[in-house]
Amino acid sequence: MRTVIYPGSFDPITNGHLDVIQRASRMFDRVVVAIARNGGKQPLFTPAERKGLIEQSIDGLGNVSVDVFEGLLVEYVEQQSGHAVIRGLRALSDFEYEFQMALMNRKLDENIETLFMMPRASYSFLSSHLVKEIATLGGDVSAFVTPEVRAALTERLGQAGAN
Ligand code: ADP
Repeated sequence: MRTVIYPGSFDPITNGHLDVIQRASRMFDRVVVAIARNGGKQPLFTPAERKGLIEQSIDGLGNVSVDVFEGLLVEYVEQQSGHAVIRGLRALSDFEYEFQMALMNRKLDENIETLFMMPRASYSFLSSHLVKEIATLGGDVSAFVTPEVRAALTERLGQAGAN
């Protein structure tokens, strides 16, 4: 039973994240999407809200579950009996930070591998941050997130996000 952990903020989940989750679910027996509680950012959605939105989005992927974690990622991976961590790579700009993180995590635990996956090209410019910005300014985010996430953004940000 090969388990992979996909950690992140997911504030909120986008089609880019979903693309990575779908690819991972075909490669591993079990995928755990792990929401970092202490991301160090000012989130728009609570961890519980983010969990609910991810659960709605992964309907039909039987081997994917969603959890919230705190503290060191490598400790969480051990606790889940995970074999690897998946991270998405969009553009070169992701690379330096991800490279640093992966090597640091390897230093903390030699047994955990980090795998990088590229999303479909059309999602390679997509980020939760950008989606929130577009929604705040009243732009249409329906090509980037599920209808449930779009509705949650509209509710949280007011009518400006409704277009
Ligand atoms: P973090 O706050 O850790 O960057 P995010 O929720 O933004 O977490 O993203 C979690 C992971 O998903 C990261 O590895 C990030 O690079 C990846 N990711 C985010 N958006 C996309 C996308 N559009 N395509 C592929 N991977 C993505």
